[in-house]
Amino acid sequence: MKPKEFSRRRFINTVSAGSVAAVVSGSVPAFGNISSFNNNAGKLAILGGTPVIPRKIGPEWPYVDEKMVDAIVKTTRSRIWCRIQSPNGTVPTFEKDFATMLGAKACVSTGSGTQALNTCVEALGIGPGDEVITSPYTDPGTLSSILSSHVLPVLADLDPESYMIDPADVERRITGNTKAIMPVQMGGQPADMDRLLAIAKKHNLKVIEDSCQAHLAVYKGKKVGTIGDLGCFSFQASKTIACGEGGAIVGNDDELMDHCYTVMNHGTNRKGLTVRPGPKYRMNEFEAAILLGQMEGAGERFDIRNRNANYLNSKLKGFPGVVPQKLYEGTESGSFYLYMMSYKKEHFNNAPRSKFLKALAAEGISLDTYLSNGLHREPWVDHILNLKSYQKMYSPARLKQYRDEMNCPVCDSTCDEMVMIWASGPLLGTLEDMDAIINAIMKVYGNRDKLNSI
Ligand SMILES: *Cc1c(COP(=O)(O)O)cnc(C)c1O
Repeated sequence: MKPKEFSRRRFINTVSAGSVAAVVSGSVPAFGNISSFNNNAGKLAILGGTPVIPRKIGPEWPYVDEKMVDAIVKTTRSRIWCRIQSPNGTVPTFEKDFATMLGAKACVSTGSGTQALNTCVEALGIGPGDEVITSPYTDPGTLSSILSSHVLPVLADLDPESYMIDPADVERRITGNTKAIMPVQMGGQPADMDRLLAIAKKHNLKVIEDSCQAHLAVYKGKKVGTIGDLGCFSFQASKTIACGEGGAIVGNDDELMDHCYTVMNHGTNRKGLTVRPGPKYRMNEFEAAILLGQMEGAGERFDIRNRNANYLNSKLKGFPGVVPQKLYEGTESGSFYLYMMSYKKEHFNNAPRSKFLKALAAEGISLDTYLSNGLHREPWVDHILNLKSYQKMYSPARLKQYRDEMNCPVCDSTCDEMVMIWASGPLLGTLEDMDAIINAIMKVYGNRDKLNSI
């Protein structure tokens, strides 16, 4: 079967069967003989050769179409700009549609993914003196959502192959004050949810899924974000469903979702009573208009990203130089906001990652390194340890232990090896585009003896 003939239905069936990497098995290259890539490598573009990729891969991102432009004009003219002006405005409509899209009972929108996460922390009653375990390898918004409630963020180390929190390390870091686990669905792919849920159950902890990168991803028949107690999404401009800045919480517990609404709405509940402290985290009607305008095509774009990611995975299978992110058993599809790989320099003549990236960029494909440091190595750690509020809420012994245990060596090596594609637009390219990415990597591999001198 040629990849081009791959129908959506057949694709979904194949992926559901769990054979993610075998999707285009007809075209997997023979890596039994890696040395064949030393021949016909061609002269590196950075040394004056012809670049492999003469064009941009995939469409520009964020996505724009005339329907979205019309929706903004319509919202402007309607004078309904804020969600409280109408129960049928774009924000309430978006919340209904997004909940339906994910198979969740309810959705509460917010002004960002960070706000969505913080709303969950507050709605679950997690506050000063409590601890939440999350990943050091994530957007700073994850951390911010915990710190904003004066809660202690405890960072667990990673599974080196998936770049997501290692459940065993999560369990080691649980204390008597731990209230929740906040797993990050890194790159948009599902975390090791079964194991994390089991640990949460055993220790009576809540699970807040940081699915800010993982729109529409599926794990064991469930959309990511609907697996834990609450799930959060971001619609920041780079994400695979985007409106500039925006966020959403999904969940199946009506009472808890009402708490989320109240927190988001400056402490004022759906009946109009002001019942508790809360920030004002409302999404506005323009943001929801943009989101409604692109939800229709979002599923189709999601399928194309999955097809392309599976194609890249199949092409890289067995190649030791660049290793794609491991997908956990139970992963039926990923969102592929990021297409992540580890660069193994020992297979590139020990050339540093920067030289590999430089050579590849000259061939026409720019990979990024994501975080240069895990969050455990950023200055906020010492900052909070010096705050009076933290010194009052946590014992000196706990804070000392916290500082001493702020080590995540797997995260450090992940930061050193990461090479990734911001995939929202690029992974919407054609299979020929995907071949070009592979050819560029293999061309650089074939010239690895020259990399150290560029
Ligand atoms: C983008 C992102 C966030 C924060 O979302 P914002 O909308 O930017 O506030 C949180 N966590 C992860 C994993 C993200 O990728």
